[in-house]
Amino acid sequence: MTFSERTEPAFSICVYCGSRPGNDAAFADVARHAGEWIGRHGGQLVYGGGRAGLMGVVADATLAAGGSVVGVIPRALVEREHAHRGCTELIVVETMHERKRIMAERSNAFLALPGGIGTFEEFFEAWTWRQLGYHDKPIGLLNQAGYYDAMLAFLRHGVASGFMGAAQMALIEVGDDWRTLLQTLVREAAYPAPTRLDKV
Ligand code: AMP
Repeated sequence: MTFSERTEPAFSICVYCGSRPGNDAAFADVARHAGEWIGRHGGQLVYGGGRAGLMGVVADATLAAGGSVVGVIPRALVEREHAHRGCTELIVVETMHERKRIMAERSNAFLALPGGIGTFEEFFEAWTWRQLGYHDKPIGLLNQAGYYDAMLAFLRHGVASGFMGAAQMALIEVGDDWRTLLQTLVREAAYPAPTRLDKV
């Protein structure tokens, strides 16, 4: 395909998810469904560029369904052979900060699937940036099989304890159905809600 024949993706979604598969096959299933949905709808996946765990599953599924995949990975991880070589575009960066900035810039929405500390950190950073007004892109959290129940309970404890407000909770979309959540994020990305920062 020549450059002029390349079409712009319908949307670009940044997915944060585990570099491990987790111990329930439902986690990999949902990563595969999400990737297939993005690819089938002419979307672009932006992610951490790895090939392990759920990261590899969502990237492979997006590619197989005809979507494009932008991987953004620090050089150190490439050297440790963590990079997914099948990415449509693999952006190698020097620092984690640069990586997260590019991942955010290249996408219209963020989705966190189940994962570990890397996923938590990325999700919370996207949320923090939104509450501070650095972006107004929708952010979703997929609570697959109740994986995030305990974290959501703690967030409610943060609200009850006066360290957070209901308006901040309103800046994220939480759902247990991957399809509904993806549809919501893509719709909100196309028609962003008026900023709710005045209430924060
Ligand atoms: P974790 O949830 O701790 O497995 O970390 C996953 C998140 O951190 C992903 O969304 C990636 O952006 C990043 N990450 C962690 N490990 C890797 C890896 N081996 N290769 C690429 N990215 C990774």
